[in-house]
Amino acid sequence: MTFDVLIIGGGPVGASLACALKPSGLSVALLEAQPPPAPQPKIWDNRIYAISPGTATFLAQCNAWQKLDMSRVQPVEAMRVFGDEGAELNFSAYQLGVSELAFILENTQLEEVLWQELQKHNGPTLFRPVRCNSLVWHDDAAQLRLEDGQTLSARLVVGADGAGSWVRQQAGIVAPLTPYNQHGVVANFTTEKLHRATAFQWFQPDGILALLPLPQQMISMVWSVSPEKSATLLGLSPEELCAQIAIASHHTLGELRLITPPVAFPLRMLSPPRLVKPRLALVGDAAHSIHPLAGQGVNLGFRDVRQLAQVLLQRGAQTDCGNLSLLRRYERTRKEDVLSLLLTTDMMKRLFNNHNPALRIARNLGLAATNHITPLKKMLARHALN
Ligand SMILES: Cc1cc2nc3c(=O)[nH]c(=O)nc-3n(C[C@H](O)[C@H](O)[C@H](O)COP(=O)(O)OP(=O)(O)OC[C@H]3O[C@@H](n4cnc5c(N)ncnc54)[C@H](O)[C@@H]3O)c2cc1C
Repeated sequence: MTFDVLIIGGGPVGASLACALKPSGLSVALLEAQPPPAPQPKIWDNRIYAISPGTATFLAQCNAWQKLDMSRVQPVEAMRVFGDEGAELNFSAYQLGVSELAFILENTQLEEVLWQELQKHNGPTLFRPVRCNSLVWHDDAAQLRLEDGQTLSARLVVGADGAGSWVRQQAGIVAPLTPYNQHGVVANFTTEKLHRATAFQWFQPDGILALLPLPQQMISMVWSVSPEKSATLLGLSPEELCAQIAIASHHTLGELRLITPPVAFPLRMLSPPRLVKPRLALVGDAAHSIHPLAGQGVNLGFRDVRQLAQVLLQRGAQTDCGNLSLLRRYERTRKEDVLSLLLTTDMMKRLFNNHNPALRIARNLGLAATNHITPLKKMLARHALN
């Protein structure tokens, strides 16, 4: 079978690219290794995203946002960030003249609505579940062999297959996954006090604790801590874990009650030297992996998709969609956004993960000063809203 574009990886990023390419006139196939998830009781997903307003607009253009069950989506109206000496940086939607700073949304719901949209009549050809065997590039096409013996060829292959990308490896793009020496511990809780649509974050010498508001007076926690502390947290009883989080968050939300068991995942940085080659483009976690402290990982992937889809939709009718000059346009426009977030998150993590007393004072002064410099605050916010 021959296609214009093969997207390998049907997570949120790859699935949204397949939706965004619907109006392009290109023949598209989407391949996903995992079978569709079995219908589940509606427990709350541990993988929760802070979706920026820019991403929400893009998902609406993909016809996916409209399908969400909004009773499970929480708008964020304010954000409070604390240093380890009490300095505070805060943002509010009201001050910035926007209706919300972000939307808190479950991964399962997001993937579900994207796949619903893909299954409609004019959608891409879907291969799920599928096992890829080999991928080779020729001058005029790339050829993918599946484990069941089928061969698919395309002018362009898009690697949307996550941080450990098989496509990236087949293309010979070497990109080490550098451990941050931290794990992200995630879990959901109900709270005694109202969160008032506010997201909280505490930078502490032994970790970064984020509490994101969920509907029905619940919160989602991401606590980035050393692997040792992560193991300790996972070994606590629900009551002990809640008590630890209440202490670390200065009892801001009162007593907590655990509703989904905690899980931990290793935090790693990934920055491949290239995002494109002839007939290849990387998007999402296959193209970069950053620390979750800015809550921007998945938004960065959606911004890749917005840019790649725009380049492909605006190409001339005669232009080959796997053409390297065309793909370089995508790579150039993504460089600054990806690099600035990689460096900022890495610097913030290092700055606060340091016990030097002088640094401790400086970082808190920096946080407090940023809070008082309105143009700087607005600049930071604009980046996060995109
Ligand atoms: C527990 C957890 C919590 C997180 N919390 C946050 C958060 O709060 N905020 C945030 O922004 N980010 C968070 N992240 C990161 C976020 O999940 C990723 O940034 C996001 O999933 C990237 O989407 P993606 O589609 O690029 O990759 P993925 O979601 O990794 O999707 C890749 C897809 O490709 C498929 N695949 C892999 N290999 C193949 C192959 N060879 N053939 C076909 N298919 C293949 C996989 O099955 C998968 O469906 C979290 C991650 C984890 C693990």
